[in-house]
Amino acid sequence: MRNAELVIIGGGPAGMCAAVSAYNAGARDILVIERDSDLGGILRQCIHNGFGLHRFKEELTGPEYAYKCETELKKFPIDVWCNTIVTDISKDKIITAMSSERGVEKIQAKAIILAMGCRERPRGALNIPGTRPAGIFSAGTAQKYVNMMGYMPGKNVVILGSGDIGLIMARRMTLEGAKVHAVCEVMPYSGGLARNIEQCLNDFDIPLYLSHTVTDIHGTDRIEGVTVSQVDEKMQPIKGTEMYIECDTLLLSVGLIPENELSKSAGLTLDSITRGCRVDQSRQTEIEGVFACGNVLHVHDLADFVSEEGEVAGESAAKYILGKTNTVKCNINVTTDGKVRYSVPQKITDTSEDIKLYYRVSQVFDNVTVFAEADGEIIVKQKKVKVVPGEMQYIVIKKDTLKKDAKELKIYIDKA
Ligand SMILES: Cc1cc2nc3c(=O)[nH]c(=O)nc-3n(C[C@H](O)[C@H](O)[C@H](O)COP(=O)(O)OP(=O)(O)OC[C@H]3O[C@@H](n4cnc5c(N)ncnc54)[C@H](O)[C@@H]3O)c2cc1C
Repeated sequence: MRNAELVIIGGGPAGMCAAVSAYNAGARDILVIERDSDLGGILRQCIHNGFGLHRFKEELTGPEYAYKCETELKKFPIDVWCNTIVTDISKDKIITAMSSERGVEKIQAKAIILAMGCRERPRGALNIPGTRPAGIFSAGTAQKYVNMMGYMPGKNVVILGSGDIGLIMARRMTLEGAKVHAVCEVMPYSGGLARNIEQCLNDFDIPLYLSHTVTDIHGTDRIEGVTVSQVDEKMQPIKGTEMYIECDTLLLSVGLIPENELSKSAGLTLDSITRGCRVDQSRQTEIEGVFACGNVLHVHDLADFVSEEGEVAGESAAKYILGKTNTVKCNINVTTDGKVRYSVPQKITDTSEDIKLYYRVSQVFDNVTVFAEADGEIIVKQKKVKVVPGEMQYIVIKKDTLKKDAKELKIYIDKA
């Protein structure tokens, strides 16, 4: 069995930034394991621009952003194993990895960072009635076909789901010569960033049907059309609103699920809302020395926040390895009111540094204030003109504002 101080699973922006930050914080024996042939993660197939505005102050494409992260990583003697998949992690941090080059290998790690990203929800998770013809793809799969493999999935397209991947693919398919007839969204608001609605739909006159879903799929060998219906507030189709749209392709952009099979095999419990591990402010999970960051922890909309979270996890893992973790601990549970759907971290164990809490809301709210309240005392107020579920927000808790002996930090929304 090989030993490594720090093993990072996943070579997307989260994993790469975690590796650099761990090195800068003093860790030396670092191994990044990536199942794909190259580093970069999902960014490799995102050839549109819009990445890096916060971090690099310029608009980059996904591959450019990944290249910048990789160039930084390669300045340091950090081991990278590509074409290698991690198949298991045990509670005592033994990693099983497999590659055609090295076969099956066991690595005893002192610390692990989980950075495996997320995957798309498939058709099977939706229960759409109808036949099972060819021509139904997840939007990310279609993106890979078009952008990396040079295949066109179809010419007449309907997209179900208005998250960012669906919106980006509406524009991409149009630019490649397809006709995108509709983007249907079951919720009364879009799940994507406002800028993507403008730049990907409105600029190309692609109709967005809010409170609409696909209620039937037609075709035997290849999809020939879909029935789209309006839904009521309980998301039930409304009789009489059905419309038939002829198409040869249906793209599904109906949510992302953090890739946590390995986390479960290590015995970690998952948060029922984020579907990622529960972590503290250092991104340490319930198992000491196991950290998580990026989309495997909670689905992000901006790569910049993913990189930032990777850096927090990397620095914390280095401190853990070097025995520099702050021992003056506290045990503060972070709770939300439902209007704030979730927050990460879910727990605070050290208040000696500023803490950036990421959160998402459950519906669209106009002119509200977001509060952080510690044991009944309001410690931060944040006015917001508009908050939407598709855009992750954050609130900063300054280091001296949260008492160490606090029990609960509640994040909630009220009228402005
Ligand atoms: C279509 C689309 C459009 C986007 N548009 C924007 C945008 O315009 N601007 C922006 O800022 N952000 C955008 N994002 C978001 C951003 O790209 C992602 O949030 C970010 O790339 C996620 O990084 P990650 O490192 O957490 O995960 P990933 O990039 O998914 O990387 C995870 C890596 O882990 C590897 N892995 C998984 N399991 C294993 C295993 N068992 N063993 C070994 N390796 C494993 C995977 O192969 C992958 O390379 C977009 C995302 C998508 C999908």
